[in-house]
Amino acid sequence: MRGLQGKNVLVTGGSSGIGQAIAVRFAQHGANVAINYLKQPEEAHDTEEQVHACVTRVQEHGVKDVLVQGDVSKDVDVERMVQETVDRLGSIDVLVNNAGIQVSRPSHELVNGDFDRVIDVNLRGSFMCAREAIRRFLEQGTGGTIINVSSVHQRIPKPLYLGYSVSKGGMQNLTTTLALEYADRGIRVNGIGPGATVTPINRAWIDNPAKREQVEAHIPMRRAGDADEMAGVTCFLASDDAAYITGQTIFVDGGLTLYPSFAEPWSSE
Ligand code: NAD
Repeated sequence: MRGLQGKNVLVTGGSSGIGQAIAVRFAQHGANVAINYLKQPEEAHDTEEQVHACVTRVQEHGVKDVLVQGDVSKDVDVERMVQETVDRLGSIDVLVNNAGIQVSRPSHELVNGDFDRVIDVNLRGSFMCAREAIRRFLEQGTGGTIINVSSVHQRIPKPLYLGYSVSKGGMQNLTTTLALEYADRGIRVNGIGPGATVTPINRAWIDNPAKREQVEAHIPMRRAGDADEMAGVTCFLASDDAAYITGQTIFVDGGLTLYPSFAEPWSSE
């Protein structure tokens, strides 16, 4: 993909699942990656090893990687994470807002603390990271690009996961509003909307064949996605091949957002 080589990329929640695949795929394209992890550096060990394997493959491009600890819901951490990225890689060109959590509870039993926690990480965290990255893009005078890892639940309601649905719905507006606000300053903001993807967040069904079959029966393509399929689209949106795209969310979902229950006509003869 054009324009990724030598770029400096910060991936939040980069130590597992989709974030890990994104970090590795950027490194494969010759980009330098700052891998954010939440608590212990060991969490990000696997990502770093995989990135190092790419570093060896693309050594001639001098790919670098750094580990950056931080909680995206804390403003001091966010400022430090972006500062460390710039100090250690030289600049920041791409931010991937990927860190995310979910809490399952009937909405009438959902306590404020659980609702707030999901919003704080998924939405407010993405806003704070975007704000810090945009400040740097403007200071650097280089422009830049942000990719928000949203969800099909940006569009499809998710009962029992109210905080999650609201956070991802908000992410759509984060993407479009920032895209419009900064379009004339060389800053593009886009999103991806993963469908059901095989990652640790879905442990409840990926390790249980019967439950997995149940999940996959709802997907028009009859299979869950994998993290690498999310990574490819993310890199595309950050690349010069997508230079004229801003404010869009690409759903990477095997057809989940196509109203699958209409696959067979049922509302008319
Ligand atoms: P995951 O649990 O493997 O990844 C989430 C990452 O976020 C983890 O590395 C975790 O440590 C990190 N994280 C959590 N709280 C954090 C915080 N406060 N600060 C920094 N990092 C934090 O799951 P995943 O499926 O790879 O999820 C990645 C993103 O993809 C999430 O935003 C999720 O909502 C989205 N998504 C996933 C699916 C899916 O089916 N897996 C579907 C749609 C959207």
